[in-house]
Amino acid sequence: MSGYEAVIGLEVHVELATATKMFCSCPNEFGAPPNTNICPVCLGLPGALPVTNAAAVELAIRFGTAVGSTIGRAIFHRKNYFYPDMPKDFQISQYDEPICVAGAVVVPALDEAGPTTVRLVRAHLEEDTGKSVHVGGTGRIHDADHTLVDYNRSGVPLLEIVTEPDIRSAEQARAFVNELRAILALLGVSDVKMEEGSLRVDANISVRPAGSTTFGTKVEVKNMNSVRSVAHALEFERARQIELVTAGGAVEQETRHWDEADARTHGMRSKEEAMDYRYFPEPDLVPIAPDREWVERIRAAAPAQLPAERAAAIAAAAGLPANLAAAVAYTPGLADWVDAEVGAGADVTQAYVWASQEVLAHLNETGKTWVDVAPPPGTFVELGELVGDATLSKKLAREVLADVLVSRRRPRDIVAERGLEQISDDAELAAIVAEVVAANPDTVERYRAGNEKVAGFLVGQVMKSTAGKANPGVVQALVRSALEP
Ligand code: ADP
Ligand code: ZN
Ligand code: MG
Repeated sequence: MSGYEAVIGLEVHVELATATKMFCSCPNEFGAPPNTNICPVCLGLPGALPVTNAAAVELAIRFGTAVGSTIGRAIFHRKNYFYPDMPKDFQISQYDEPICVAGAVVVPALDEAGPTTVRLVRAHLEEDTGKSVHVGGTGRIHDADHTLVDYNRSGVPLLEIVTEPDIRSAEQARAFVNELRAILALLGVSDVKMEEGSLRVDANISVRPAGSTTFGTKVEVKNMNSVRSVAHALEFERARQIELVTAGGAVEQETRHWDEADARTHGMRSKEEAMDYRYFPEPDLVPIAPDREWVERIRAAAPAQLPAERAAAIAAAAGLPANLAAAVAYTPGLADWVDAEVGAGADVTQAYVWASQEVLAHLNETGKTWVDVAPPPGTFVELGELVGDATLSKKLAREVLADVLVSRRRPRDIVAERGLEQISDDAELAAIVAEVVAANPDTVERYRAGNEKVAGFLVGQVMKSTAGKANPGVVQALVRSALEP
């Protein structure tokens, strides 16, 4: 199979993080009871008139300016087709004049091959459809008893981002989606939760002999609900197509469905015909004509660095390994918060070490986002002061931080309540050292016979008897002097 390469282009639907829907003032909210966030506009009742949500346009422009798109005049069209969860029988979308044209996303290097640039064809605004809920059987339409429709999602603002066919492997597709998600999250354009459907990826893939400059026939793959399944579906489809063409067959242009359960793509039963959507300009909406000044204001208010640039800056400023810096930079909100702490006096290296270790470990364990757990401003500054004046050892500081992330209390309050102050008092520690030395005559003998390494055992015993609160530096000095004859 090595004589062939995959050619992949993605169409990514992103639900925008606006307060209200695309053309009405219903809440844009996931998880509300069915059919509670609805009105005549998003139900498509006759006579209801749409009004464009300026916040959605602003988020589209924020994305476009960040990835180098050209922002221009945009027109809404009606895309006509029938679907039970789309009551108007047309979807308002953008057709030949989308809000964002061109642009590119640079995907960081997967290997020594270096970074890949994936060009964007366009990013356009449209409205989401409602959601069909199939009841009975497996929950899929073919064996359901009946189907319910929830119109809460109907009219939710979507940005559809279309790439050029610049991706060459499933792994690259995965890296691109991760990069795009990080960019959208960093910009606050979307909450990018694939499991809640706020980011959905349709993947187009063809194969061709390596070195060929023409494209093969593409297949569109749908229904992947995680970044991992995007990669799995593409890997499966690549192998299927190569097997087909090397056996002398031909790839059929079709839409295929990824089935997570059997890890295969399946063709739709009836062969799909090219849809004629009969696009025509939406007569109830005026064109969007963003003036330069507005576009520049949006660009200026957005974060100046994309996640990859941010990661490089963090690695340089904090002396952090690239992977740890990236882990912080790709966690929405975290690097901004840490930088504010550094601006308020926290040590940059210490702050990023805490962020990349304690904070990310906590987020991984709990599945929470940084936005969920972010403690009050000044937390790292205070923690740094407690380490600086030797109230806390670094180890105790990590313990206090773990508590902060759960309880959101101030480090000083936690230290006071839990009695976590480090013991640095010479007299107090000298007494404990004397006890430990007296209780371990064998060890003392071995030390004095020249095995200096055993001092570590005695230090450990002192730490243990103080529940880790003894100042390790002070203990070490005290143990050494107690052992010298
Ligand atoms: P269609 O008109 O069938 O929707 P488009 O030209 O609009 O096709 O492209 C849709 C998506 O498919 C884009 O992301 C594009 O990059 C990708 N694409 C187009 N041709 C190919 C191909 N031969 N192989 C893989 N992907 C392709
Ligand atoms: Zn509505
Ligand atoms: Mg198309």
